[in-house]
Amino acid sequence: SQNRRPIIAGNWKLNPATISEAENLLKLISGNFKNHRTLDGPEIVVFPPFPYLTTAINELDGTGIKVGAQNVGLETKGAFTGEVAASMISSLGASYVMLGHSERRTLYKESDSDINAKVHLCMEQPNLNVILCVGETEEEYESGLLKSVVDLQLKKGLMGLKKEDLKRIVVAYEPVWAIGTGKVATSEQAQSAHIAVRGTLSDLFGVEYANEVKIQYGGSVSPASIDELMQMPDVDGALVGGASLTADSFTRIVDGG
Ligand code: PEP
Repeated sequence: SQNRRPIIAGNWKLNPATISEAENLLKLISGNFKNHRTLDGPEIVVFPPFPYLTTAINELDGTGIKVGAQNVGLETKGAFTGEVAASMISSLGASYVMLGHSERRTLYKESDSDINAKVHLCMEQPNLNVILCVGETEEEYESGLLKSVVDLQLKKGLMGLKKEDLKRIVVAYEPVWAIGTGKVATSEQAQSAHIAVRGTLSDLFGVEYANEVKIQYGGSVSPASIDELMQMPDVDGALVGGASLTADSFTRIVDGG
């Protein structure tokens, strides 16, 4: 993948149920990566729920594994009960925010313009990077709409970003029909979608940027499917849901099947 350092991320979603279970998982991950030369391997990021962020940062200290938040609120401060601001995430020492996950888009009705506003809020924090998730539904895929759907999600999601901010964006291509379904895209399907994403990014921001930007594949990635996916020239890593919840499978995905 053209000098692009791969990035493997674990999206814990709304798991596990308690801090002690989270600590157990983090200790196992930390143990597995203690002696890892993480600088030589892929960049690794875990995305626990908000209440576990500080614990994750502390438990993973020394492993080189980064920590990110799964969402951010649309406000910066004030009378917005229950919201979380980008400055709060950044000030804990987290270095990523995941935005535009299909569960946020569908279950919580996040629009592309909400997502774009959140991307901008993250970019105001000098130490935050963003994983922007895009992807088509099964129906859109069957109708040949993959390219036009991700085109629009990228165009609207990244609207108004400065050139230097674009360097802090990772794109995750996640076909909705593959998320949590056990129906992983074939490596050929992923490669062809990643070419479409890179093509759009080239049209929007130039070919040089398109060649630098990392594009992860997400959707039912497991130790059994990671190697083939990573062999594709335009697949620069994976965003892993279910298989990131056990240290063993997450580690095997990072290390390669
Ligand atoms: C995800 O939540 O981004 C995801 C890809 O989930 P899973 O790996 O479980 O399909």
